[in-house]
Amino acid sequence: MFHVEQFKINDIMNITKLKNAVRNVPDFPIPGIQFKDVTTLFKDPELLTELSDTLYEMYKNLNITKVVGIESRGFIMGPILATRLHAGFVPIRKAGKLPAATYEDSYEKEYGIDTIQIHQDALNENDIVLLHDDLLATGGTMLAACRLVQKFKPKQIIVNFIIELEDLKGRALFSPDVQLDTLIHYPV
Ligand code: AMP
Repeated sequence: MFHVEQFKINDIMNITKLKNAVRNVPDFPIPGIQFKDVTTLFKDPELLTELSDTLYEMYKNLNITKVVGIESRGFIMGPILATRLHAGFVPIRKAGKLPAATYEDSYEKEYGIDTIQIHQDALNENDIVLLHDDLLATGGTMLAACRLVQKFKPKQIIVNFIIELEDLKGRALFSPDVQLDTLIHYPV
């Protein structure tokens, strides 16, 4: 488990510039939430390329065979990164969206239970999987996604987020054996 600062990324991109491009939207979708909006980062062509280059440099030597993205904001950088790494892309979607046979897992959200699914033929035990989402909050979504990916007994699972809300301590849910990388850090 390590933070991205351990990579020599300053030659590739300025994390402060990246962080400044994320829009904070107070009280969305409900009062009290500080929503970190990555669309303002993604719309900037220079930053989008720099982000893609940075993630590529982080993972290019790990022989990643599949990038697994979580609906819906994991579907933006996930496929971009998959093409850079010459890996496949696999979606994890909310229940009822994937057309073929699926495995599913549920986790508790603030209000009620959410269920996510993956196709049963999406991965195999020879895969080295990079799981990606835009943001780590409480960690419940990614932990359920990890459980789904573990069903395939892949060789290795690596977890990546663009943003980590450190005060929510989502990182603590994951075993110290799991490599969990984040680029931008906020208190909440
Ligand atoms: P969690 O399961 O609590 O880690 O929530 C992570 C998921 O919810 C990710 O897919 C995020 O995109 C989304 N999310 C949670 N909190 C926020 C936030 N403050 N700003 C933007 N997205 C959020």
